[in-house]
Amino acid sequence: MVAATGFGAALWDSILQSLPSEASRVLELVRRHNRWRRFETVNLIASENVMSPLAESAYLNDMMHRYAEGKPFKRYYQGTGFVDEVEVAVSELLGELLGGARVDPRPVSGTTANASVFRVIVPCGGRALIAPVQAGAHVSHTKYGTLGALCIEQLEMPYDDYNMNIDVDRAVKMIEDARPQLVVLGASVYLFPHPVKEIAEAAHSVGARLVYDAAHVLGLIVGGRWRNPLSHGADVMTASTHKTFPGPQGGIIASRDEDLFKKIGRAVFPYFVSNHHLHRLPALAITAVEMKYFGEAYAEQVTRNAKALAEALAAEGFRVIGEHLGYTRSHQVLVDVSGHGGGAKAALLLEKANIIVNKNLLPSDPPDAIKNPSGLRIGVQEMTRFGMREGEMREIAAFMRRVVIDGEDPARVASEVREFRRSYTRVKFTFDVNTVIDSRLLLLE
Ligand SMILES: *Cc1c(COP(=O)(O)O)cnc(C)c1O
Repeated sequence: MVAATGFGAALWDSILQSLPSEASRVLELVRRHNRWRRFETVNLIASENVMSPLAESAYLNDMMHRYAEGKPFKRYYQGTGFVDEVEVAVSELLGELLGGARVDPRPVSGTTANASVFRVIVPCGGRALIAPVQAGAHVSHTKYGTLGALCIEQLEMPYDDYNMNIDVDRAVKMIEDARPQLVVLGASVYLFPHPVKEIAEAAHSVGARLVYDAAHVLGLIVGGRWRNPLSHGADVMTASTHKTFPGPQGGIIASRDEDLFKKIGRAVFPYFVSNHHLHRLPALAITAVEMKYFGEAYAEQVTRNAKALAEALAAEGFRVIGEHLGYTRSHQVLVDVSGHGGGAKAALLLEKANIIVNKNLLPSDPPDAIKNPSGLRIGVQEMTRFGMREGEMREIAAFMRRVVIDGEDPARVASEVREFRRSYTRVKFTFDVNTVIDSRLLLLE
C-alpha cells in the first residue's frame, strides 16, 4: 500500500489501520485513483471534466438516499420539499443560461436524455437521420445503441471530406427523399459546428423534428463560444452535464416548445428513470451558477487552448487534423498518429507518461478500424479548469512529442509530467470560498 503524503496523511493512515483489510483496500484504491488523476496526470479526455470543490461539497448530501418520482411539487413520495425547490432552481438556472428554455434535469445521463426524446418523437418502426459516423455521431444515435433499442431505423447523412462536416446540400436532399420523423445533429468527435439552421429548415419542411445532442459542447454553448442550437431551429437539445459543462455526471433535456417538452417529460419518468439520482441536483445548480458568472471566460480560454494545442502539436511534428480550417473551433483536437504505430499504441504510451487521451477513429478511417484507429481525440477543457493556458498547451505538446514521436522512455516523461501538473491542482472559474468544509476526505492531497 502506498503511504499517503501531505496534509491529512496521519488521519488517513489511522483510519485505514482501524478498518478490516477488505475495506481499507477499496478505500486505498480510491485514494490512489484520486491522487493520480487529480494531482499527477494531465487529463485530455474530451468527455470529462471536474466539478469545483464547492459543487463537490454540494454533491455529498442526503438527497442521494431519497426518491422523488414525478415532477417537482407533484411527487409520488412524501418528504421531497427541499428536493423540489432545488430541482426547480436547476431548471430555471439552466433555462436562463440557454437564453430561455424549459429544462428537464431528470435524465441520469445524456444517453437517457436521448432515449426519452427519441421515444417521443419517433414511433417504433420509424426513421431517423443522423450525422455520419465520420462526423462524430454518438453510439446512442445509432442502430447499435439507443435508436436500435427503440426499433428506429437509422440513415446517415452524407459527409463532406473537405469541410469535415455534414454535406448540407446532399443532406437536405436526403431529408426530402427519406422523410424521417427525426433528424439528429451534434456529436462526440467534432471540431466544427454542424449546420443547424439549414438542416432544421429541411427537417421541418417534411414534418420532422430536429434534436441537437450537445453532450460535448453544452459548456461552450452557455459560455457563448458555440452556436445555441435552440436559437437556430433545433426543436430539442439534449446534453450531458459533465463534459465541457463541468457539473456532476448526468443529462438534461431543453426545449422552447412547451407542448413537446411536456410530452418528453412524461417519457423521462416512467419510461427511463425512477429515482433520478437527486444528490447531483444541488451540485448541478452550483455549477450552473458558476457558469453564469465564469462561463464566458472559461469557454473563451477552452477554445483558445484547443487552437494553441493544435498549433503546438503541429509545430512538434504531429499530423494534426483540420489545418486548412484552422484546426478546431471546439474543445477538441484530433491527431493522426498512424505514422507512429496507431492510436491504440500512442494512447497506451501516453498513459504510461501520465497523459490521458483516448484512441479514436478519424474521418478517414474505415469503421472497422475501431480496435486500432489512426487517431487520438484530445480535449483541453479539464486542464483549462485547472488554470492552464496557451503556454501550458505548448509544454503538453512537447511532452507528447517526446513519448509518441521520439520514443523516449515514458516513465521518465511521467515524472516530469507529475512535476508539471503540481502547479495546476486548484479549480479556477469558481467562487473563492475559503470556508468550504472539506468533507471530501478522499480528495485530501
Ligand atoms: C457522451 C455523449 C453522450 C452520452 O452521454 P452520457 O451522459 O455518457 O450518457 C450522448 N451523446 C453524445 C454526442 C456524447 O458525446
